[in-house]
Amino acid sequence: MPHTSIQDLMRRIPGVDVLLHTDALQKSLGTHPRKIVLDSIRHVLEETRKRLRENTSQITEEELQVNHIVNHVIQRIEDLSDYTLRPVVNATGIVVHTNLGRSLLPREALERLQLIGQGFNNLEYDLERGKRGSRYVHAEAILCELTGADAALVVNNNAGAVFLVLNSLAQGKEVIVSRGQLVEIGGSFRIPDVMRASGAILQDVGCTNRTHLQDYAGAIGESTALLMKVHTSNYRIVGFSSEVTLQELVSLGQKHEIPVIEDLGSGSFIDFRPYGLTGEPTVQHAVNAGADMVTFSGDKLLGGPQVGIILGREDLIARCRKNPLTRALRVDKMALGALEATLRLYRDEREALLKIPTLRMITMPLTTLEEKAEELLAAIRAADAQECLDMEKVASNSQVGGGALPAQNLKTWAVAVRSDKIATQRIETALRKSRTPIIGRIESDRYLMDVRTLQDGEVEIIQEAFRKLIKSIL
Ligand SMILES: *Cc1c(COP(=O)(O)O)cnc(C)c1O
Repeated sequence: MPHTSIQDLMRRIPGVDVLLHTDALQKSLGTHPRKIVLDSIRHVLEETRKRLRENTSQITEEELQVNHIVNHVIQRIEDLSDYTLRPVVNATGIVVHTNLGRSLLPREALERLQLIGQGFNNLEYDLERGKRGSRYVHAEAILCELTGADAALVVNNNAGAVFLVLNSLAQGKEVIVSRGQLVEIGGSFRIPDVMRASGAILQDVGCTNRTHLQDYAGAIGESTALLMKVHTSNYRIVGFSSEVTLQELVSLGQKHEIPVIEDLGSGSFIDFRPYGLTGEPTVQHAVNAGADMVTFSGDKLLGGPQVGIILGREDLIARCRKNPLTRALRVDKMALGALEATLRLYRDEREALLKIPTLRMITMPLTTLEEKAEELLAAIRAADAQECLDMEKVASNSQVGGGALPAQNLKTWAVAVRSDKIATQRIETALRKSRTPIIGRIESDRYLMDVRTLQDGEVEIIQEAFRKLIKSIL
């Protein structure tokens, strides 16, 4: 509308009252708070005025019409009404995906959350004695039962667990760690930084690729409080390299009466070697080898809620428990309830592999994955009546994620999609922004969905998103 003046156009923008009295927005008032509806109207009007001022010639006659503006307002109302934390479809194939919330809880744990959340409970009440008790007793017995440890303490997360152990046992004293294990995990957790923050003094020994027992032995002195081993989680040193085993470190520690701690990171209760996955030590192995303290996450390979688990010697756990920081890192009742339910499944390994989603996804047979890929392919094909897309089932690799088993590629099946009509990047964006966001990846200019991490009912969600995308192309 190049020949109309701005003022003239501004006058044509409908007012708040006019919009509010449209049937559509009257209906919105029935289902949404008045404030949200009004804020949305004001927001869309302000946007429209701004666009007019900035670029008058870009605005079409249609955009100033009541219907058009009402549609925008309704979109805005929907955006404002959405939860910010909401479900997404994980089509990345990364099972323990920290950005997508890590482990999915087993049904047994979800039922527990409901039960613990809706009523009172004995979180800190001793039912035997009828007085105040400790929240830390709840998961302890089963953790000791499953791992053979003497004592256990559950805190908010594993970063907190490591921090608490270092602060309780080594404040102002030295902790000996191999240079090859001074790792950074997920950006904000770096062993040297955690050490400094905890008040412990890092004494790094050996070289990046090789550390020997005598390196540790040579560094032991008056002020050595701990020998520490860190599972390097998210990377591997390959080639000319060597690490001191936990057993060797334990013997050295015993000789000098210095406790040995191991940060396992993922902390698996299952030996994955029968499934062709190597390099992930089990928690039981670390306890058996004689580590005085072991720390690991609840929501990585364990497949439970976010917690940090400390196992170890009774006297050392007692020192952690007495530390005032424990209060700051304390675990909540929901996490404790879900943890206990998850741990109980480990009493029967077959049951754990079936019922814990993280384990089920990691050990899913290739034939099942291929069937899932065929199902997804058929569903997208059915949504693509006009044949806008090229698609096929492709063999690919998934990752466990969460720093676990980093050198392992799990063979998987995926569906790859591209189109002559729309850039692959736009396919990715459209799916990510759909009602239930779908997170896949782009590889060789194709949009790839790994079926390993798809849950029940999500094929239909993806199909619907493709239906919408195709409609928008045509
Ligand atoms: C993941 C990880 C952590 C941090 O655990 P959170 O549960 O994320 O707090 C610490 N150490 C290692 C080796 C890890 O892999």
